[in-house]
Amino acid sequence: MRRDNVSDAKQRTSCQVCGTTKTLKKASGYVVCSSCRTAIGIIKNHPEKIKTLWPHFHEEPILPEPVQIAQRAMVEMPDVIDGKRYQTIDRERNKWYLLVSEVDGRPVEVFASTAFDRNHELQSRISNLTTITRLISLILRHIFLHEPLTMDKCLKQIQRSSRQKNDLPDMLFGILSRYRQKSSA
Ligand SMILES: [Zn+2]
Repeated sequence: MRRDNVSDAKQRTSCQVCGTTKTLKKASGYVVCSSCRTAIGIIKNHPEKIKTLWPHFHEEPILPEPVQIAQRAMVEMPDVIDGKRYQTIDRERNKWYLLVSEVDGRPVEVFASTAFDRNHELQSRISNLTTITRLISLILRHIFLHEPLTMDKCLKQIQRSSRQKNDLPDMLFGILSRYRQKSSA
């Protein structure tokens, strides 16, 4: 390791950090100019100064907040879920019931039902509607319960939304299933 550094120092004609060809020195295994050597010294010995300076130049944190990683743990879906039912009327004057399930006041699932639920001519409309609410629910559980969002889960929800062969979710399921192998590999 050490030998590599020595030969590296001989071969290098420019600073490893900024690229200048000024006089080069070694600093913590790097071959650098005197300015970059000073910078490395600060990073190595006074990281708190870098942390203080960083937010003045970058909106992103220098490292991901450890707190955010801790919060990523998945929240179990409770057996009994609170829900709020909303009644609304669409532009064609159909009455709708929209149910939002909540965990600690956060939305985790949505359901929608309306009078045309029982109309056989509207099966495709219902399956499209089911796809929307199932996928929204999946996303909500991902956001608020940190449930992992995977290709398999998306496909399962799309497949379950289908009511008859070759309706939109059935066609989407058929096409997207071709990608399943690739994404899980
Ligand atoms: Zn330099």
